[in-house]
Amino acid sequence: MTEQTRDVKRGRWYPAPPPGLPGETGDTYTNRLLGSDKTGRVPYDHQRNRQCSIGYHSECSCGPACECPCHTDPWPTEAQIATLTEEQRAGAVTLAGLYDLPEASGFRVIVAAVEAMREWPMTRPWVELKEPLERVYQSELDAGFLADVSFALGFREAWKAEQERLKALVQDLHNSAGVGEDLG
Ligand SMILES: [Zn+2]
Ligand SMILES: [Zn+2]
Repeated sequence: MTEQTRDVKRGRWYPAPPPGLPGETGDTYTNRLLGSDKTGRVPYDHQRNRQCSIGYHSECSCGPACECPCHTDPWPTEAQIATLTEEQRAGAVTLAGLYDLPEASGFRVIVAAVEAMREWPMTRPWVELKEPLERVYQSELDAGFLADVSFALGFREAWKAEQERLKALVQDLHNSAGVGEDLG
């Protein structure tokens, strides 16, 4: 799926964008993705035009050189789309807008997610959807993207409750570890 090249992993990075590196600002991130920093740390394993490289998929002029998956991502079938609720369809459009993806990709993600959730009921789709969606796209998907897919599917409240629970857990661990302990 990805190969390690110095400190960046090369991959498809679609539909979620590649992660930033520690200490990277918006500008240095953009320059690295474009290759204009001349460090050879472009994370894509395929050729992308400028706009697609930095996630402005809808603005790509799509010259012949651009191999970003956004230009070839297929629409789900009408039968598949017909199984979606109104809320899920709206979520597909919202997700596409959020990441500047073509609507075909928004619908493909949501259809794949809904189909996976039909196979086993998910309580934490922001974790459980990682594997089935990465299988569809052969690309790593980050936590933020998976959370946004979960929100698009109506799981925002469940996600918030989980974040609160984790925060409390970390606080407990911190308290029981004892303050002032030498961790050197
Ligand atoms: Zn493109
Ligand atoms: Zn693109």
